[in-house]
Amino acid sequence: MQSTDVVVIGGGVIGCSVAYHLARRGVSVTLVEKSDIASGTSGACDKAVLLQSKNPGLHLKMALESVKLFPGLQEELDVDIEFKKDGGMIVIYTEEQWKIMEQFVERQNKLGLAVQLLGKDEARRRQPAFAENIVGSTYSPMDGEVNPIYLALGFFRGAKKYGAKTMLGTEVRGIKLEKGRVCSVITDRGNINTNNVVNACGVYAPFIGAMVGLDIPIIPRRGQIIVTEPVAPLIHGDVNCARYITAKFRPELLGNDESARLGVGLSLGQTENGNLLIGGTREFVGYSKSTTHRALRAVLKHAVKLVPALKGINVIRSFAGLRPYTPDGLPILGRVTRIKGFYMAAGHEGDGIALSAITGKLLCDVITYGTTSLDIDMNKLSLERFKEEDIDVFRKSHNCYGDAV
Ligand SMILES: Cc1cc2nc3c(=O)[nH]c(=O)nc-3n(C[C@H](O)[C@H](O)[C@H](O)COP(=O)(O)OP(=O)(O)OC[C@H]3O[C@@H](n4cnc5c(N)ncnc54)[C@H](O)[C@@H]3O)c2cc1C
Repeated sequence: MQSTDVVVIGGGVIGCSVAYHLARRGVSVTLVEKSDIASGTSGACDKAVLLQSKNPGLHLKMALESVKLFPGLQEELDVDIEFKKDGGMIVIYTEEQWKIMEQFVERQNKLGLAVQLLGKDEARRRQPAFAENIVGSTYSPMDGEVNPIYLALGFFRGAKKYGAKTMLGTEVRGIKLEKGRVCSVITDRGNINTNNVVNACGVYAPFIGAMVGLDIPIIPRRGQIIVTEPVAPLIHGDVNCARYITAKFRPELLGNDESARLGVGLSLGQTENGNLLIGGTREFVGYSKSTTHRALRAVLKHAVKLVPALKGINVIRSFAGLRPYTPDGLPILGRVTRIKGFYMAAGHEGDGIALSAITGKLLCDVITYGTTSLDIDMNKLSLERFKEEDIDVFRKSHNCYGDAV
């Protein structure tokens, strides 16, 4: 039977980052992934390293720390992760939204995010493709983007370079405990002796938790994205709309029409190749990764209002991914006190690409030093912040198991 100090379960961007940071610090680590690198949510998402979409507080603080690590990763990793800091805008359509965004921006400024409000003309000067019907936008030069698949692959190859063992196509089937402490991981390709396990399984993290009797409040929140044919540069940096922020944090305020029920909020970006990525939705439909005509139509209708030129561009495909959603919108990170040697690194909702770098660093600190020197309150990220009865209510109030539409 093989032995290792830490088993990281999950080869998405989070598990790969944790494995990379641990291996770089000289820890003996084995990454186990049931399928392939970035075969889950990390391969079915956008590419934004967005600061503006983070709640001003711990969420934004983590994102600010994370973004500091990306230029180093661009240098360090053997894969070109296509990291660019080319700014981001949140489009504002009404005076009411302007007032809300004014407060949001003020709170973000206080935490160190450079972001300002732009009137309509200035917003359209930055993005000539925008229609006339906007009130303005925000703009932050600190928002960036990265290729999420290359990022996961870069972390994976980096981990291997520093000596990590990797087991792709290997499913974790169980975790053995001895006197309340992790002692081995059971896979479909044999068992691994270890005293430490990191659960980095995104929306599947609750299944790993259940193997050791933990109830982990993460449910899938589907997002559908449209991909167009490559076109000449049309969209510069990350573009979202104020409604996107509402759909993310306060979907109940969207109203009750079809677009509100689908959680439609605009995300728009252009890849290095020129393809436009047009999103998206926020839906609770269990583990279904299908796209639906209804949602794609609603997303396009919304996007064309802002960028009329989209009408003349061909759609080539669509896809859906599952955001690992938690009750308070923050990931679940760090040691789980009830089970010695069990660590969580999951629940990043729509922020896992941006937060991957800081997550890997935090987990590495906590596993190797027992604490982190970064000014991040790990208690606020712990599994223990949720009470059992609240987890029950959370599950019951969302359609987390199915009837996909
Ligand atoms: C439409 C959409 C757009 C998004 N856009 C952005 C964005 O622009 N910026 C951003 O920061 N974030 C974005 N996100 C969020 C981001 O994609 C996720 O937060 C992130 O990918 C989660 O990564 P993960 O590693 O936790 O999960 P995953 O990538 O899902 O990885 C989990 C892995 O665990 C493996 N696994 C599960 N069970 C087992 C088992 N028993 N044994 C072994 N392996 C197992 C799975 O196969 C999977 O590969 C978006 C998400 C969606 C859906």
